[in-house]
Amino acid sequence: MKLFKAGAAAAVSVVLALTATACGGSSDKASDSGASGGAKKDKIVIGIKFDQPGLGLKNPDGKFTGFDVDVATYVAKELGYQPNQIEFKQAVSAERENLIANGDVKLVVATYTINDKRKAKVDFAGPYFKAHQDMLVRADDTSITKAEDLNKKKLCSVTGSTSAQNIKTKLAPDADLREYPGYSECLTGLENKAVDALTTDNSILAGFAAQEKNKGKFKLVGLNLSDEPYGIGLKKGDKDLQTKVNAALKKMVEDGSWQKSVDANFGPAGYKAEPAPQITEGS
Ligand code: GLU
Repeated sequence: MKLFKAGAAAAVSVVLALTATACGGSSDKASDSGASGGAKKDKIVIGIKFDQPGLGLKNPDGKFTGFDVDVATYVAKELGYQPNQIEFKQAVSAERENLIANGDVKLVVATYTINDKRKAKVDFAGPYFKAHQDMLVRADDTSITKAEDLNKKKLCSVTGSTSAQNIKTKLAPDADLREYPGYSECLTGLENKAVDALTTDNSILAGFAAQEKNKGKFKLVGLNLSDEPYGIGLKKGDKDLQTKVNAALKKMVEDGSWQKSVDANFGPAGYKAEPAPQITEGS
């Protein structure tokens, strides 16, 4: 009787899931274990950036490229999902914790710095990369060479980022900080002279500066204003997933895929990435 009940409940939830899929066009669940007892995995939803060349970029043809995309694809494969079973969802900086906590995405692989404030809401696997905060200015600008020079300048960064937070709390509290939803909007502002500088991770800035359409327009100041260890965000308390993602990251480094992706994605931008960091989350 007990067994029957469980079976009936499962059947009901399958029907509900199928109905939801039929109504919504696609299931909102971050990962789908299929209709028959979890034997077949249908898809995994992963949050990435859509506007950061070299890291997470949605190209005009709809394809996704960048180091974070490669990391996400590798980890998904280790979790049992082929590339065609991955649904990439845009995860702007300010929404990453919410997307994870609400179950809209299973993982966030989006230049996502591990820190205690975020760890109050989500868990991380990794770190898998180490960047540093820097600044991007127009190529002919000689007035900004250090963080304090920003104090009376118009500065752009992104809402919910560590970059904006660091400026406000320590690096240049008197800067006229404009917070936009994404870095590509900041870049447009820098080009149009709506702002004087853009600050975030050097990995992101190098990707923008190297884009064909931006060649010669901008320069990195070359500062090392913070440590930004990137982790893969996941639901708080999901130890099992954290362990599996850590194992996948370790394997990616050991089999050479990590370095290959670093070279392919950052090489063209002339960005010298640091070696893969030691995995410390969850231990
Ligand atoms: N890594 C920093 C952060 O997680 C800045 C880049 C970003 O906003 O994604 O906030």
